[in-house]
Amino acid sequence: MTQPEQRKLVDRFGRVHNNLRISVTDRCNIRCFYCMPAEDVQFLPKQQLLTFEEIERVARIGVTLGIDRLRLTGGEPLVRRDLPVLVRALSDIRGIVDIGLTTNGILLPALAQPLRDAGLRRLNISLDALDPEVFRRVTRRDGYEQVLEGIEAARRAGFSPIKLNAVSVRGLTEDQIEPFGRLARETDTVVRFIEFMPLDADSQWQRERVLYAAEILQRLERAFGPLRPVPAEGPATAAVTEDALPGLAADELLPQLPQSTTGKAPAEDYEFADGRGRIGLIASVSQPFCASCNRFRVTADGRLRNCLFSHEETDIRELLRSGAADSAIAQAMLDCIAAKGEGHEINTARFLQPQRPMYAIGG
Ligand code: SAM
Ligand code: SF4
Repeated sequence: MTQPEQRKLVDRFGRVHNNLRISVTDRCNIRCFYCMPAEDVQFLPKQQLLTFEEIERVARIGVTLGIDRLRLTGGEPLVRRDLPVLVRALSDIRGIVDIGLTTNGILLPALAQPLRDAGLRRLNISLDALDPEVFRRVTRRDGYEQVLEGIEAARRAGFSPIKLNAVSVRGLTEDQIEPFGRLARETDTVVRFIEFMPLDADSQWQRERVLYAAEILQRLERAFGPLRPVPAEGPATAAVTEDALPGLAADELLPQLPQSTTGKAPAEDYEFADGRGRIGLIASVSQPFCASCNRFRVTADGRLRNCLFSHEETDIRELLRSGAADSAIAQAMLDCIAAKGEGHEINTARFLQPQRPMYAIGG
């Protein structure tokens, strides 16, 4: 058991956790194939969701343990009624220096300004394709036009730069890389390409469908000229070597991004050498950043998770609803972080996809 006097979210590997991701709902208004089933999703009943008051209490307790950054996510966080009320309450917590939100953007036309007014400063909008047909194949729903309107609404509300998250999937989104590159070069938009991770509800993930960050980088450089890494902070990320991949044959070594000039982690952000535009590469599969992970999660139904890929959870809803003291909830957080594993193991033969898919964890 962790000593309470330690009172910081530091794990066995010395990683300090200051970033809490809070899922506010598991519901969503679209059905991205890499996250949700197409039909018949069983959503949590409302009474199982943490209330705004409970979420605020969790955040306040987190702050006493060193949390200073929050991100709201889901499911689709904007389908949770009165979300700006929660954003206001969280931004009023002393010790929180940054609140972000990840959204599919569909409800942003109505909500971008109220969220901004409530204190939200950082917004990531997920859009995997600039081609409406590809968008529909990914999301299995309509909504492309609303997302574009949502992006504009975010711009008008003062979110700048606009940050887009694009999951990259081999055989589906290759053709979108150049148009996204152009968008990044011609507008105030940072596009962050994310490797497809094994968190889909249908457990259909296959390594062959991961479009690797290094390939995306190559494609962008071919189209627009050299990209240079923007030096990253934090400890070095281990390169994926043959040793780390007992599940793969030697000729299947994963393509790696060039190291940043600082010799630290492979840079997540790159800028075009001519100074026009910036992109991000999130190589969660080919170059895991577990070594510098500072993230900690609470699901919409009040389970603490120390990793996206964890197989264990800590139920704090029960504690919250049974009159537990703040110190007991703090201890549950400390214990959860103390039990965190070294890394996600996607690239080993030991890997087992977690039972909860992405929408039920909170991405
Ligand atoms: N609904 C919101 C959205 O889509 O932005 C927030 C929740 S979503 C789970 C958070 C992020 O996770 C999104 O950018 C989404 O594209 C990403 N994501 C979901 N499933 C993924 C997967 N299997 N691999 C990689 N990224 C994934
Ligand atoms: Fe919904 Fe986001 Fe999952 Fe897509 S990635 S289904 S928008 S929760």
